[in-house]
Amino acid sequence: MKKIAVLGAGLTGAAAAASLVRQGHQVTVFDKGRAAGGRMSSKRTEQGYLDMGAQYFTARSEAFTQQVKQWLEAGQVELWRCKTALLSDDEGVISLTASEDKQQRFIGIPSMHSPVTALLQDIPLITGCRVLRLDYQQQGWTLHSDTGQDYSDFDAVLLTLPPVQAQQLLKQSGLPELFRSASDVLEPCWAVAVQAQSIPWGDAIFCQHPQLRFISHQQHKTGRSSCYILHFNAAFSALHLEQSADFWFAKATDILQQELGVQGEIRALVAHRWLYASQRDQVPLPGLLALPERPLWAGGDWSYGGRVENAYLAGLSLAQAVLTYAEQQEGTE
Ligand code: FAD
Ligand code: NAD
Repeated sequence: MKKIAVLGAGLTGAAAAASLVRQGHQVTVFDKGRAAGGRMSSKRTEQGYLDMGAQYFTARSEAFTQQVKQWLEAGQVELWRCKTALLSDDEGVISLTASEDKQQRFIGIPSMHSPVTALLQDIPLITGCRVLRLDYQQQGWTLHSDTGQDYSDFDAVLLTLPPVQAQQLLKQSGLPELFRSASDVLEPCWAVAVQAQSIPWGDAIFCQHPQLRFISHQQHKTGRSSCYILHFNAAFSALHLEQSADFWFAKATDILQQELGVQGEIRALVAHRWLYASQRDQVPLPGLLALPERPLWAGGDWSYGGRVENAYLAGLSLAQAVLTYAEQQEGTE
């Protein structure tokens, strides 16, 4: 049995931890956030849960399809019966058209982080704990955290953090850097939640628009109320990265009123900045990364191309890397 530290309680970390625990290993998961979920987190508000990050997920691989089936059976996930539409801007002419397809899209119930929480059930999880530095000595890894507490004697470490954060941690620890250019991997996204009069546009609106990437209407999501979440695209989010929430509420209101004809009051709810949100196009996929001669691996959705499903698959691959290492160790003992 190995003692393993998993840094990051998003879906990658949760899938890795659950898989290792199933194989009889002892795992502790650490996250700087207040709860598990990472970019699948929903914010609890008076209006119900607001999905500020991932809006839904699809399942194409056999492994993830099987996992989704289990979540569905346990009531932790539901099919999102969403009407899809396309918002396009053709040289200033905005059009919204139905764009229906047969793709199955899933959501966590009652919030997007429910499946992550379900995987981590019964696994020690230390939240509100940012790991600042890692030390590797003969007896194993020690984690130094911003709470002032140290956690020692881990045989292996899995980093499931966005590349910039993983690289910073390695640098602060005097360890070799794993990424050639960590800042090139993930791009930002400002997410804005508002309450507005309901208009039968569709629930999942893909945007080919100079500013927007996606508009999601929460009306047909169990546990949520009739709010809209607007995701601004990476270029526009990056251009106005440091703007205040008021700027983003004004932008969202302007688009809804001027371009989509929404009438009546638009109430600002939450604006959230994701610094590391989505995979940058045309950058080679890094896959899993490993430190030379030390039992530490890094991986995440970014290893295989963003998306919730890829986070899950990265978690399984990270667990497999540790299992292979443990077998090799046993062979030499
Ligand atoms: P994360 O969820 O980012 O987890 C990493 C965790 O590490 C975080 O919880 C963080 O707090 C923690 N951490 C970082 N540094 C430290 C540290 N030093 N110490 C301790 N903990 C640390 N995908 C889809 O499939 N469908 C969608 O509709 C979709 N929409 C999206 C919309 C937005 C706005 C965003 C941001 C993402 C969206 N995605 C979507 C992508 C999807 O959310 C991600 O692919 C997935 O959640 C990534 O999971 P992860 O575990 O790899 O990383
Ligand atoms: P998917 O198959 O629903 O969508 C993949 C892509 O295909 C969409 O982004 C869209 O461009 C296009 N598309 C799909 N159905 C469409 C339709 N009916 N009409 C018009 N265009 C359509 O889901 P997936 O492959 O699991 O992708 C995950 C989703 O997560 C994508 O929508 C992606 O944009 C989103 N995402 C967003 C962020 C962010 O930062 N906002 C980060 C990661 C992923």
